[in-house]
Amino acid sequence: MEIFGVNFNFSDNKKLNHQFHSFANQLSVWYNNDIPPKLASQDTRFMLELQKQKFQSLGLDVKVQVGKPAGHDPAPSSISYSDNVFVNSSVAGNKSITTTIRDSQKEIYNKTTDSVICAIMQQPKEGNIPSHDTPLCCPNCGAPSTLGKLESGCEFCNTKFLMDELYPKVMYYSIEEAHKSGTEMNQLLKFMSVSALLILVFGIVSEVVNGRSIGVFDIIPLLFGGAVVGVGVWIFFMFFSTFFHMGKDLRGAGKTASSLQFCRKMRKLDPTFSTEYFRDKSLSLLKLMLYSREPQELTVCQCDKPIPEKLREIVDTTYFNSGVNKYSIKDGVCDVSLTFYMDSIHYHDGNIRKKSDKIRMSLRKVIKKPTDLSFSIIAVTCPQCGASFDAAKVKTCPFCSSSYPVEENDWIITDISL
Ligand SMILES: [Zn+2]
Ligand SMILES: [Zn+2]
Repeated sequence: MEIFGVNFNFSDNKKLNHQFHSFANQLSVWYNNDIPPKLASQDTRFMLELQKQKFQSLGLDVKVQVGKPAGHDPAPSSISYSDNVFVNSSVAGNKSITTTIRDSQKEIYNKTTDSVICAIMQQPKEGNIPSHDTPLCCPNCGAPSTLGKLESGCEFCNTKFLMDELYPKVMYYSIEEAHKSGTEMNQLLKFMSVSALLILVFGIVSEVVNGRSIGVFDIIPLLFGGAVVGVGVWIFFMFFSTFFHMGKDLRGAGKTASSLQFCRKMRKLDPTFSTEYFRDKSLSLLKLMLYSREPQELTVCQCDKPIPEKLREIVDTTYFNSGVNKYSIKDGVCDVSLTFYMDSIHYHDGNIRKKSDKIRMSLRKVIKKPTDLSFSIIAVTCPQCGASFDAAKVKTCPFCSSSYPVEENDWIITDISL
């Protein structure tokens, strides 16, 4: 079913859900035993490797444990979007995530949170066979390769794969802190019983002081009255606490209208463009920038200004919201400026601090070609000589030394600030 350009998938997703849980386990194994997640796409692996290199350069040992959530554990939910060949399903499920950070001497951070992992899982559309040159990495040894090569046997480890074994692939993933439910009811009960007890004690004391005797019929109205007062106090408390948190909970909500307008405009120029695709794409570019030790060496980074030091402090980040500030489409080139609302872990002067960050990032793309969901910066084909190489690491083709025009095929970053 398609609503506002988004495919809502209500069919049986047992297989996807199973793979979602496998990916969550593989993430845990990656952070604890260095085994790359088999379900991760090449670009996702690249991002994870960059992050690990950053930890090492800072002298940090970071372990992330992904487990079952403490509270209720509903089945993951999913929605999907597609281009001509692939379907991307965004699968979200609850997990408990424990992050432990140690420096060379001691543990400096340890926190367990109920979180939502959202993984974008890609697979070919039903009845569609993707091209042989579709970039894919070998699930066995991780070497960059293509669908065709992996079906006839990986060049490095010789393992042969069937199409079924190569998909889905997790193109991106994000982690959000889960909103707590059920705690409000507990809070109300607490307020009611505490105030009932206080009023009961106060009532008894005043009766005794006035020299009157106390019967059961004096106690019941006191308890009842106390509970009612408790409800009043709770409503008052809730009003102020929501008011106080409002700034945080509504972060980014004001940008919804401009974001939708941008996406509508882009969809007119490129029917395969979708809001979900752009959110996932921009978030994965942001993570590349944050996790890279030398972001300016990335091919996707074409920022003139130096990267702010504060951004380099970020060692881990979770997504809260994002939105479009402004955009322009001129002569087939789209420039868009975004704001990301992130909850990040900063490491500075040997200390770990959790902060809510507002990160601005500008992106650019030449919008001649429709969106290619399987595009991978780890394996691009040179338009001059046809050779394939890893554009994430080298900006020019190692075979004919012509520079690779990334912005014609994918979004690039032109500015980032905090
Ligand atoms: Zn292999
Ligand atoms: Zn070339």
